[in-house]
Amino acid sequence: MKAGVFKDPYDLVAEDGIEVPEIEANEVLIEVRACGICGSDLHMYRHNSHRGVLNRVSKSGKEIPGHEFSGVIRKVGADVEGFAEGERVVGVGMGGFAEFVPVPCNPFQLVKIPDGVSFQEAATTEPMADALQMVRKAQLKDNENVVVYGVGIIGLSVIQALLSQDKAIGKIVAIDISAVRLKKAKELGVYCVNPLDGDVVEQVREICGTTPVSFPPSNPPSVDVVIDCAGYIKSMKSESPLQTALYMVKGDAIGRIVCFGAYESDLAINFMPVIDKQISIIGSQGYASEDLVIALEMMRSGKVNRNDLITHQYPLADIDKAFSAQMSPEAIKVMVLPTEA
Ligand SMILES: [Zn+2]
Repeated sequence: MKAGVFKDPYDLVAEDGIEVPEIEANEVLIEVRACGICGSDLHMYRHNSHRGVLNRVSKSGKEIPGHEFSGVIRKVGADVEGFAEGERVVGVGMGGFAEFVPVPCNPFQLVKIPDGVSFQEAATTEPMADALQMVRKAQLKDNENVVVYGVGIIGLSVIQALLSQDKAIGKIVAIDISAVRLKKAKELGVYCVNPLDGDVVEQVREICGTTPVSFPPSNPPSVDVVIDCAGYIKSMKSESPLQTALYMVKGDAIGRIVCFGAYESDLAINFMPVIDKQISIIGSQGYASEDLVIALEMMRSGKVNRNDLITHQYPLADIDKAFSAQMSPEAIKVMVLPTEA
């Protein structure tokens, strides 16, 4: 079979003649229709980061990334219950940039795609599920203001998750340096801030107003929650989004920061705001077992439009071009399409 093989930073190309994976008794074999490129794949692509957990290693030792995919079940292991050959499914695992990939049968890694949801949309299920968990962890109260730092696919998914909540949300502010991403955020109806336009905290203060802190006295913007989907990329020229978030949130034990975006290097941080303002910092990774199904149902019912977030699509043979595209500021989600119906 054909697969995208990662060798070294900036060296990921499609190769042919790789053995079709064998499946274990609790696994299914999926013929992959669509597989998205994730931010974590880019961290690996640039710096080898997280290499050990982002690839499936084939029998012949080829490292195949790709963990957000959809396709059709072609084989079912002896112990698998509730799934059958020919069914359309979302898979989360490693090795999705390939014509075939094995996936264990459990609610975190394998779910059926409802009718009416395309393979491309379905391949965005994992980032949507991540977003649902982040919003849940933020424990929003009515009318709280939320800043979303970094509005690639994850940040935009967080905005979609916020907007689909039943409760009243205050102001939602998206921060990014990409005009294309901010345009998408604006289309979703939220406020937009570009760090290239000036001081971020000042711009957010203008949108949200301020809530003074009595001791030690300060005047941060009225931001209840920052959801940091940007993390830290070595090429960032200014202070880390986490640092800005510490300056940006409310004091008096109200401000929360949900951290999701990964860090490409260690950070030097002024941590005093955590104490002065009694900030809660909450880590978030992945999703709860029910989130994949909820995300797919949101797509089926039209509560969220995921097609709008897919900006580029490439055949597997052009996976190198797909990765280059995903690194450009014009990209939101780039899809690789390993097989066609
Ligand atoms: Zn991912």
